[in-house]
Amino acid sequence: LSERLSGVFDRLTKQGALSEEDVKTALREVRVALLEADVSLPVVRKFVKDVQAKATGQAVTKSVTPGQQVVKIVHDELVEVLKGEGDPGALKIDNPPAPILMVGLQGSGKTTTTAKIAKRLTEREGKKVLMASLDVNRPAAMEQLQILGNQVGVDTLPIVKGETPVQIAKRARTQASLGGYDVYFLDTAGRLHIDQELIQQAADVRDVVEPRETLLVVDGLTGQVAVEVAEEFDDKIGVSGVALTRMDGDGRGGAALSMRAVTGKPIRFVGTGEKVDALEEFDPERIAGRILGMGDIVSLVEKAQETLEAEQAERMLKRLQKGQFNMNDLKSQLEQMLKMGGMEGLMGMMPGMGKMKGQMAEAGMDDTVLKRQIALINSMTKKERANPQILQASRKKRIAAGAGLEVSELNKLLKQHRQMSDMMKKLGKKGGRNALKQALG
Ligand code: GDP
Ligand code: MG
Repeated sequence: LSERLSGVFDRLTKQGALSEEDVKTALREVRVALLEADVSLPVVRKFVKDVQAKATGQAVTKSVTPGQQVVKIVHDELVEVLKGEGDPGALKIDNPPAPILMVGLQGSGKTTTTAKIAKRLTEREGKKVLMASLDVNRPAAMEQLQILGNQVGVDTLPIVKGETPVQIAKRARTQASLGGYDVYFLDTAGRLHIDQELIQQAADVRDVVEPRETLLVVDGLTGQVAVEVAEEFDDKIGVSGVALTRMDGDGRGGAALSMRAVTGKPIRFVGTGEKVDALEEFDPERIAGRILGMGDIVSLVEKAQETLEAEQAERMLKRLQKGQFNMNDLKSQLEQMLKMGGMEGLMGMMPGMGKMKGQMAEAGMDDTVLKRQIALINSMTKKERANPQILQASRKKRIAAGAGLEVSELNKLLKQHRQMSDMMKKLGKKGGRNALKQALG
């Protein structure tokens, strides 16, 4: 934001920069919020340290307090840490039938979560799903899955007593192939604690079916334990994703943060109740909001930032209308273009700019060029940016050298600026305010 527009806003930015003291004060509260949400201490320490470094010196948006600003920064950082790669709900189930292995401690919610995900795949993606219980330890565990299957309308592998988990897994694979299933879930047995036998059982099954996904189900209420369990399972069996259960009620999501920070495993699903449709795709924003419990402050700061951006755009518009299109304006335009994915963006939208766009395309304008142009403007003094017409040979040489580029490149930039500036003036005079406004978004 601070980079977006200079001039008037430079001043404002400096006045409202976050001091180290502001950040420290605000982070004390954040620290408490994180610990209360059951985030593990080392994770809290590292997180707070990272945010401290990031936040100090950052601009405070007009009309919010430094504390509120820090909360917003913390929120964004939380989302960043929580976010895995790609779409959390998208399971790798191409190449049918795709085996999905469900692992976790007893009572973590494996069987329930299996049925929940199976239901989701069936209803939302129209997949043909088979579920098999490999839980030969707990009485009635297989029947539990069968009942859930009936409830959600998903097939279960017929129960045959006396088989080993590996035998059941093989039977499930055969049945899934013959029956034309897209996916088959293998719901393994759990123990109250991780032990060798449990791990071995899951590993044997893994080696036989080579699961496309191995989803670890952990109780989100167990906080630190959940993270230890995840590390152990990942180490011994290999985990491709995590489902956090019992995130309804009091679970404040701290386990999610520790889980991401410590194991780096993507969280795919969140269980929010005992009912079969109490399953959500993992949403970092929502969990971040829950951990911080300061959702209203976050939206307040967002609103203030939006307002400020609108004000900046308005001011820019006024300057453009008056024909005051200087290098600072050009720079923010270039940065905007870069943000919008290069040349196609802004220029293409500007009325009457088609020709110049063509010229630029000819000149091979791409992101590298944009970045070089920005570097050139950066190496100008304040005065030069405001009045590019004062640029004579010696100044040009200095500027080009400062950016590590040729004077010819600077000349191209200046020509581009003149053309744009003329265009803006014309548009402004013709009362092209609306066109301009539209073009600037
Ligand atoms: P498993 O031993 O890992 O297969 O666990 P189960 O699937 O049998 O679940 C154990 C208990 O936890 C059952 O009573 C479930 O209804 C309950 N449960 C599972 N997921 C959730 C959840 O997300 N929220 C709540 N409140 N209860 C859950
Ligand atoms: Mg079970």
